[in-house]
Amino acid sequence: MSDTGTIDSVKTARTRPETMQSLILSEPGTLEVRSVPTPKPGPGELLVRVHAATTCGTDLKAYLRGHPQIPMPGPLGHEYSGVVVEAGMSAQFQAGDAIMGVHSAPCQRCYWCLLGQENLCEHIMKTKVLGSYAEYLCIPEHIARLNVFHKPDHVDFARASLLEPLACVAQAVELLKPRVPTDRILIIGPGAIGLLFVMALRRIGIPDVTLAGRNRTRLAVGEQLGARAVSLAEVDRSLGKGYDAVIECTGNTEVWEKSIDYVRRGGKLVLFGGCPKGTHVAFDTHRVHYDQISILSPFHFGTQAVRQAREWLIDPNFVVEPLLSGERTLAEAEMAFEDLRSGKGIKYVIRP
Ligand SMILES: [Zn+2]
Ligand SMILES: [Zn+2]
Repeated sequence: MSDTGTIDSVKTARTRPETMQSLILSEPGTLEVRSVPTPKPGPGELLVRVHAATTCGTDLKAYLRGHPQIPMPGPLGHEYSGVVVEAGMSAQFQAGDAIMGVHSAPCQRCYWCLLGQENLCEHIMKTKVLGSYAEYLCIPEHIARLNVFHKPDHVDFARASLLEPLACVAQAVELLKPRVPTDRILIIGPGAIGLLFVMALRRIGIPDVTLAGRNRTRLAVGEQLGARAVSLAEVDRSLGKGYDAVIECTGNTEVWEKSIDYVRRGGKLVLFGGCPKGTHVAFDTHRVHYDQISILSPFHFGTQAVRQAREWLIDPNFVVEPLLSGERTLAEAEMAFEDLRSGKGIKYVIRP
């Protein structure tokens, strides 16, 4: 019946303002809060009032040096949770629904999607949505349909906005297929992603997780989450036969090259941290071949990983709070990125 449509559009006119505040990355190192037109959702799209948007390593890279996947000048931020204010004829959602979601979804039609490698979908990056550091975010139809979910009441908005980074980690854990509970796993780099790996691996039942890095505060958080926290020098000293799996989470080419030294014969190396375009690394061929090291390099995530991440996140026993370093307004976002640049904090919650 069209009655509800009329009521919705009346309600809509009151809830969607003409303009909204949005954080724009105008060039590396410069973030501006600008007043921009509030997007109007089309069929199947969701206009979401953003309640929490967490900072991410990708955003930090874009802020520091630009990023191939983030156009400049342009809106920034891709982790979010919020409340639907307008549901453009969506079957699943209506105005007032609290939601959690990610910013991309595969087409499910291209060569890679049909192969079962949705994370490599040729459209997934082109059709993603950016701009969660804003009062409103318009979610495209295919993302709303595949990768947005109702947020349970017991999950607060800040926790819910961790769905995207945790989906990246879930995709990598799926590719790694660790042997539970016997694998000994080393994670290099105690940033947000390294810490999310600690949480995910502990969660699936790996007791022996080591987290290596320099930042003492972040290492202490790793310990709190159930890892043994060490410096790389300590790993060197007590290596033995090496780790069953090593997960590199720094995106630094020197660390990429060094990380293979910690893998045991027949073990796996997961190169997770993306490096700048055009950079190269060298590995000892003898090591890779005669020691049979499997090199894995997971990128992004498909729909299955998002569901896995959601399952972890909505479990109250899955502790994420130590990752959240405080709340900031849009105007304070630049300060938050400056703090992250100098190694202060792990993830800030932007409240637009
Ligand atoms: Zn992210
Ligand atoms: Zn596809």
